[in-house]
Amino acid sequence: MAVPKLVVFDLDACCWYPEMYMLRRGAPFRPTADPNVLQSSGKEAVRLLGNVRNIWKELHSDERFAGTRVGVASRCDEPAWGRECLQKFMVQEGVSMWDVAEDGQLVEIYKSSKQQHFKRLSEKTGIAFEDMLFFDDDPYNIQDVSRLGVTCVETPEGVTKEAWEEGAPMVRRTGPDHRLQVRATRRRGEKKKALTAALTA
Ligand SMILES: [Mg+2]
Repeated sequence: MAVPKLVVFDLDACCWYPEMYMLRRGAPFRPTADPNVLQSSGKEAVRLLGNVRNIWKELHSDERFAGTRVGVASRCDEPAWGRECLQKFMVQEGVSMWDVAEDGQLVEIYKSSKQQHFKRLSEKTGIAFEDMLFFDDDPYNIQDVSRLGVTCVETPEGVTKEAWEEGAPMVRRTGPDHRLQVRATRRRGEKKKALTAALTA
């Protein structure tokens, strides 16, 4: 399997849920017995979605991904909370999501067009957009970033095994048609309902 040189993740409603702006009180976050769950200071659970933990672990430790780097592109309303969660979600013993994203050096969290996040990531890494793979739950971000030539996968239920497999074959494709078809836009309300149902099941 050919692999991307840089895999980039959105955070809110893509890697975890709820979104940071939905928390009444955020930091400090505490680990729980479940490595997929952190607890906010308001006693709310922030939960990794889908197969996020395993995928990040694989990206970190599987030799197939030895040449693959990992980054974050987020417009999170509470950047400090987002960074703290990345530091406290452990993908394996002693390795946090923050560590996987090169000690946070490839973590881009701020309000702007996501194209800007990708330009920064490309400058920092020297990796071309065509060699990047991006996961995001928001169809507008998917459209925006795919214009750069990045292969994008929409994740209405977070980064599930299926979403990952949809993105995995990306680099086998070359030329202007390699971009994955952006899936039909879903209304945000439907997505939230699906996420809430998945998390309370
Ligand atoms: Mg999102």
